[in-house]
Amino acid sequence: MPVHRIYNFSAGPAVLPVEVLEEAQRDLVALPGVGMSVMEISHRSKTFDEIIQRAEADFRTLGNVPDSYKVLFLQGGASLQFSAVPLNLLAEGRSADYIVTGDWSKKALKEAKKVGATRVAATTEEGGFRRIPSQQELQLDSGAAYVHMTSNNTIFGTEFKYVPETGDVPLVCDASSNIFSRPIDVTKFGLIYAGAQKNLGPSGVTVVVIREDLLERSSDALPSMLNYRVQAGAGSLYNTPPTFGIYILGLVLRWLIRQGGLEAMAAVNDRKAGKLYAELDRSGFWRPHAEPESRSAMNVTFRLPSEELEKLFVKEATAAGFDGLKGHRSVGGLRASIYNAFPEAGIDALVEFMREFERRHG
Ligand SMILES: *Cc1c(COP(=O)(O)O)cnc(C)c1O
Repeated sequence: MPVHRIYNFSAGPAVLPVEVLEEAQRDLVALPGVGMSVMEISHRSKTFDEIIQRAEADFRTLGNVPDSYKVLFLQGGASLQFSAVPLNLLAEGRSADYIVTGDWSKKALKEAKKVGATRVAATTEEGGFRRIPSQQELQLDSGAAYVHMTSNNTIFGTEFKYVPETGDVPLVCDASSNIFSRPIDVTKFGLIYAGAQKNLGPSGVTVVVIREDLLERSSDALPSMLNYRVQAGAGSLYNTPPTFGIYILGLVLRWLIRQGGLEAMAAVNDRKAGKLYAELDRSGFWRPHAEPESRSAMNVTFRLPSEELEKLFVKEATAAGFDGLKGHRSVGGLRASIYNAFPEAGIDALVEFMREFERRHG
């Protein structure tokens, strides 16, 4: 029986490739050749070992991750990394620089402050986080333990189009909402982390990519679960990992490879976002939140002339089969999250709906 899927613009957990869901469904009760569900087998079994090894290998292939970096599959979401990063990398007597471009950066900074000294290298809060600061605006401390950035601001709909130059200071990036949406030069970063539930898979898995030399900073005094050196030494199997999440993540990575990899994803993502922004720019009716040169290809944020119209838009859109378009409460308005797995046909359908909405209410 054909299954009806609506267009899911949720910011996260978010849409997954339908092929991945179908494959997981087909193999749910018994993995081929195994006779048990992936949820029922030991994380120390040969079968699971193959699953996690393949996920890591595919992640490395897609992201062109050098051998000098560890790839970890952890739990606790990106939010636990807000604490883990300073706990591991911020030694006593040192300070960390934070580039503040939205709510998630602010939350990362808040947790770091509990651990040690911090500085704000730049903030674009004034004006409502509508833009990304330029390299020239960054006031970097050359003695900092690390610089922290958020590559895509899920709530405000802005995205870095460049990788900040931080000299010898390791750059740490929360890439939760745009990881693998386009090619990434891992060598420019000391550490990259991302909750999986936006672009990589289901909630419950967090990917951490860390340059090996940074593992030396992790003190033995840290709780083992929060210690990158312990987690890396155990190959992400220090305790029971989120086995089902890693399995699905592996299927998503294979799907990305089948799509042609990250260059191909970038082309599709630019085309998808381009169509939506073109519609937002077409008339004064729509009011895009982000400044043009800082616009995110993953989260498209916009407002309408009144809150009444915004409410009506969400209501009519929901009735028409477009879910999750209500903006985050801190920005208001509307947000279309269009991650890797969001189908281009859904963009075309939304644009058509928007034209019709404007014709009736503009
Ligand atoms: C969603 C999100 C988070 C929070 O992720 P959790 O996995 O829920 O902790 C952090 N940073 C960014 C950029 C996000 O989009």
